[in-house]
Amino acid sequence: MTKPDQSMRFLGFAFASADLLFEVDPKGIITFAIGAAKKVTGVGNVTLDNNSWRVLFAPSDHGVFSALINSLEGAARKGPIRCRLRDVSGMPPRYANLFACCLPQLAPHISCALSLTGDLDLVAGEHGLMDRTGFERAIIPLLAHAQASGLNVELALIEVASLANAVKTLSTDAADAVIDSLAGVLRAESISGAAARLASGQFAVVREKPVGKDTLAQRLKQSAKTVGIALEPRAAIVPLEGLTEPTQGLRALRFTLDHFLNDGLPKGADLTSVFHRRLNATMREAQAFTETVKARQFKLVFQPIVNLTTLEVHHYEALTRFAGKGSPADTIHMAEELEIIEEFDLAVAEKAIETLRHHGSAVRIAVNVSGRSFLRPKFLDRLLALTDGDVRLKDRLLFEITESAALVNLELAEERIQRLRRAGFEVCIDDFGAGAASLSYLRNLTVDVVKIDGQYVHQIDLNGRDGAVVRHLAALCHELGVRTIGEMVETQAEADKLKSLGVEMGQGFLFGAPMDQIPAVSVRSSARRTGTVDSWG
Ligand code: C2E
Ligand code: MG
Ligand code: MG
Repeated sequence: MTKPDQSMRFLGFAFASADLLFEVDPKGIITFAIGAAKKVTGVGNVTLDNNSWRVLFAPSDHGVFSALINSLEGAARKGPIRCRLRDVSGMPPRYANLFACCLPQLAPHISCALSLTGDLDLVAGEHGLMDRTGFERAIIPLLAHAQASGLNVELALIEVASLANAVKTLSTDAADAVIDSLAGVLRAESISGAAARLASGQFAVVREKPVGKDTLAQRLKQSAKTVGIALEPRAAIVPLEGLTEPTQGLRALRFTLDHFLNDGLPKGADLTSVFHRRLNATMREAQAFTETVKARQFKLVFQPIVNLTTLEVHHYEALTRFAGKGSPADTIHMAEELEIIEEFDLAVAEKAIETLRHHGSAVRIAVNVSGRSFLRPKFLDRLLALTDGDVRLKDRLLFEITESAALVNLELAEERIQRLRRAGFEVCIDDFGAGAASLSYLRNLTVDVVKIDGQYVHQIDLNGRDGAVVRHLAALCHELGVRTIGEMVETQAEADKLKSLGVEMGQGFLFGAPMDQIPAVSVRSSARRTGTVDSWG
């Protein structure tokens, strides 16, 4: 075999990573193109040479390419940048990853490589920018990728204070052109398209730390100027390196975005130090929580749930109290966010089981379990191991699934719920009606009880919207054979209304606040004999 020519070798490498290679001059004219032009453009016999690069990309993404060309300095390479290719009629939108560099020997010409991609992992919305939810969702895989590939990543927060006012005076098309131009710069700056519009004048982008001076704000200003508008963007940088745990990164990002959206960019203050202070505090809190749980430094209090007609106590809900603190809600919320809730839920179940073993069979307890724990791989085995096949616990333990929004896999959730029910325990969905997904829970999950969220119950107006919601929920549950509890019942009037709307049981200060001990006689009605066991059903 003859020795290959060096340039052929480079061509081989280039094609190994791209479908189309092309070069553009400073005016944006393609001066050279080689590769699968037809595949990329969707048009046969197309000549790219001497055409503008615009023939390659969808108009919405022209801003990205312009911004890319303008941001290349030295021999730096940019990419991958996800771009939408020019639409081909009858075909769904197509995307490609774009890399570009400006070699000193070829300057001012720019060398570009395009490779077609499948579906977008990162879902972008209007102007090719993500919304906050999509941005947050993208961050964990992005940080993992950055860590694996040794990239030094940072979060840039951009505020364009005058944007809303400036675009108000423009036609829709002109306003879109302004946002497209800013979006183009941000997407070209981002890693894998992780650029978001958080509010009308607030943007965020995850990018690689620039080598020299940061010119992002300047470039945004410049690109707005090219579409005829004067803006004063300001940017602040938050380093993301060192966030080895992806959940830490997510937590930190959420905090930073909240702070940015509520207060804007700090005037002169250093956002980086604010961010780090908060991150360290969060990590300390998480550590303290894990230790508290390990040492079982919390107690359970018990609140009765009564039958609204007979006023008999049906069961007690176990609620956690940490020493010296009131409601555990904030702590639990933090533990859920940081995904350290599983050990806690098991510790609570363990304490509740101990309590049950100390009481007669008339006492039944409901234990809260976060939806986040519920789907963890080993959780259910560990929970069932705590009950250890003890027949005395059967029909006396109920699991209330809180944070049901975390039940992202309903099929798996249903399988686990049925395992619990087969083992002799009942399952309840807590805070029902609070999330948009409530109806799909009822369709997909076979549960025994639903607890209607306190916000629909407290100060309920029979003829208002909440009244209608509760009436229909109660009727639907009744038809499906699911029992209902209304929570946060504080007055007799509320209890009466709930009953008239068809709700079976109630919980709230009217019937009793959470208490340290379960009374020896667990039923209110004098007609009942102590120790009577009545079934859940
Ligand atoms: P939840 O499970 O919906 O519990 C009901 C909350 O409402 C309790 O707050 C209770 O004290 C309060 N409450 C009861 N009756 C009334 C009333 O008439 N009026 C008003 N305004 N409030 C009433 P708490 O104990 O602060 O718990 C808050 C949340 O924290 C719970 O909501 C639950 O989501 C979570 N939580 C509490 N203990 C645990 C636990 O051991 N494990 C888990 N995973 N979550 C828990
Ligand atoms: Mg509950
Ligand atoms: Mg609740």
